[in-house]
Amino acid sequence: MNVLTICAHPDDAEILCGGTLARYAESGAHVTIAIATNGEVGSSTLPKTEIADIRRAEALEAAAVIGAELIWMGFRDEFLFDTEETRLAFIDAMRRSQADVVLTHWPDDLYNPDHTVTGRIANDVAIMTTVPNIVTPHPPINRIPVVYFMDSMAGIGFQPEEYVDITHMFEKKRRMLSAHASQTGSWLKDQYDSSALEMIEIWSRFRGLQCGVRYAEGFVRAKAYPRNAAGSLLPHGIASR
Ligand SMILES: [Zn+2]
Repeated sequence: MNVLTICAHPDDAEILCGGTLARYAESGAHVTIAIATNGEVGSSTLPKTEIADIRRAEALEAAAVIGAELIWMGFRDEFLFDTEETRLAFIDAMRRSQADVVLTHWPDDLYNPDHTVTGRIANDVAIMTTVPNIVTPHPPINRIPVVYFMDSMAGIGFQPEEYVDITHMFEKKRRMLSAHASQTGSWLKDQYDSSALEMIEIWSRFRGLQCGVRYAEGFVRAKAYPRNAAGSLLPHGIASR
């Protein structure tokens, strides 16, 4: 089982699906974190190249907490667009990771344009990953990956259809996010007057409340031909007949 998350910025994966990735890793799955942009605007004081280098190192450190692989796409922060270049990069990330499942941003989240664009491209190109005439550095994969949209930022306007219990992984999620010290330290405080670590505590507790556990993350499966699965309404024994 190979799981890929494609996120807009360094730290998004840890905030939005860190606990779920940790659970996948614990179960023996190969986990890949792909980051579309270089995070170069994420500092009030450091020049762009410097903060981008710091954020890449932080992303590697966070990925190492769960033994995940990192794909750093390096597109410009806050200026991500749906182009041939970005589509091919996203397709190649899915091929390189041999993704069975892709977790990405919910395109209706109004928080940030990079999030919207990332979620849209990731969902749109999933169907092209198996197509031989679309050429990228890695060969086509055999099966179109299933795409799940992650929660919106702070859960605004998003109603999960699936919850993952991350109670016993919450400390790991916190550790992963803490690796992004340039963001949890001052940037998000300066920018939004909020603490990312406090935010994931409240938010994961809230999602946990909704599904009867202490901490949870929420997702919605992208519903698209031919990626829908039959049988989820029926009990497993019946559905598999
Ligand atoms: Zn982001």
